[in-house]
Amino acid sequence: MTAAMENVDVRPTPCARADAVVIGAGVIGAAVALELARGGRDVVVVDKGPGPGTGSTSASSAIIRYSYSTRDAILTAWEAAHLWLRWEQHLGGGDPDGMASFVRTGMLIFRTTGYDGTQMLQLWDEIGIPYVELDARELADRFPWLDTGKYFPPKRVDDPRFADDALGQLSAIVDEDSGFIDDPMLAARNLAHAARRHGAVLRFRTEVVGIDHDGRRVKGVRLRGGESIVAPVVVNVGGPHSSRINAMAGVDREMTIRHRPLRQEVFAVPAPAGATLTDGAPVVADLDLGQYFRPQAGGTLLVGGTEPECDELHWVDDPDADSEYPTVDVWETAMMRLARRVPALGVPSRPVGLAALYDASDDWVPIYDRSSLHGYFMACGTSGNQFKNAPLAGIYLREIVDATMSGHDHDAEPVRYVGPVTGLTVDLGAFSRRRRRAATSGTVMG
Ligand SMILES: Cc1cc2nc3c(=O)[nH]c(=O)nc-3n(C[C@H](O)[C@H](O)[C@H](O)COP(=O)(O)OP(=O)(O)OC[C@H]3O[C@@H](n4cnc5c(N)ncnc54)[C@H](O)[C@@H]3O)c2cc1C
Repeated sequence: MTAAMENVDVRPTPCARADAVVIGAGVIGAAVALELARGGRDVVVVDKGPGPGTGSTSASSAIIRYSYSTRDAILTAWEAAHLWLRWEQHLGGGDPDGMASFVRTGMLIFRTTGYDGTQMLQLWDEIGIPYVELDARELADRFPWLDTGKYFPPKRVDDPRFADDALGQLSAIVDEDSGFIDDPMLAARNLAHAARRHGAVLRFRTEVVGIDHDGRRVKGVRLRGGESIVAPVVVNVGGPHSSRINAMAGVDREMTIRHRPLRQEVFAVPAPAGATLTDGAPVVADLDLGQYFRPQAGGTLLVGGTEPECDELHWVDDPDADSEYPTVDVWETAMMRLARRVPALGVPSRPVGLAALYDASDDWVPIYDRSSLHGYFMACGTSGNQFKNAPLAGIYLREIVDATMSGHDHDAEPVRYVGPVTGLTVDLGAFSRRRRRAATSGTVMG
């Protein structure tokens, strides 16, 4: 732990009352805290971890992309990207610990069976997201280190068909505006620092063990050790723990969308020539083989999975009991798939990577919402794809909190947000806990 983190940790809360308690200081919790504090509320953030962003945020691949299935999701990602682009301005100042930055690499999306992108491109055209379409020959010219073969459907490595020859060649969509945030934990710390500038108090190693309420209204939170914080507004941003926190509040029963921890493993592997960050390699979405990968500093590729049907999903009952160590089985699968797409890959002899948890919702769309317990809100179900939207998710929550606390019924008439970049409107009802399942890819792509 760094000295700066310790400084953040030990600040005592000035009182056991607040206008709002935010549970969780991940990248989204810190963004919610910043926006509520900016709006004039006395905010206390409580997190059971040692510092900002030490939960699932710390494991994030932090990819910024616009390749979602629904209009509201694409618009949210595009508007949020512009907040990352002017990060210091968005935060209202710098951070002595340094600033996270948006590395723009562009993104290549292979078009394959069930994922051809036609509907997405119509939405990109409407929103104004630039792109080009490349056929296999153009792809080979521009990215000679990629094998453009079509291998769909993704297979397990013990499937004898895994080694079958390609059934054709893939085309792709390429945009120049995607990329990644170079240090996801630092991004959370930047947000926490900005929130503290607006008076928010952050308490670490402080666990919420109960939600106080009278059945109609939230009253505050109960902490391990017996202390309570009284507050008219409580926001659950507990990441993979958030379904447990919703159950503490008793609001899980009213939700039509479930969200639960799903184990994920991500690996780093040396990138061959052409595929490094300095070579200008893009983020790659490869649902043809069931993977995504991106370059990162140090000449490596970061690779993760996209939940192809052949892979077993590892749902986790107790997020605190899950191992952070990757497994040989998942590593071998990841390396074999990546080596198909990047034939010059040099696979290391031992796994270098991590295991972490998504808080996956039924339709892979997040839940940014109120609840029927007045004053209790949630930003959860972030499904492995909401790091990029964190700064805007903070604004969405503030809008929903402000509207609800001044008597507006967000369930009956969802709050709308007009994006300053596009002038287009996002219907925040798209992120309702009570929505009908959205038609999405059914994977982390959203
Ligand atoms: C492996 C991986 C790769 C990903 N890649 C991408 C990507 O490329 N692009 C993208 O957009 N998104 C990605 N994501 C998703 C993104 O990282 C998450 O959506 C985001 O970080 C969630 O932030 P959060 O603040 O909601 O949760 P977290 O960062 O998990 O924070 C929750 C916090 O709540 C605290 N907490 C929990 N329970 C309690 C309690 N009872 N009391 C007090 N505190 C509590 C925890 O200590 C934790 O700090 C990825 C996620 C993972 C796991």
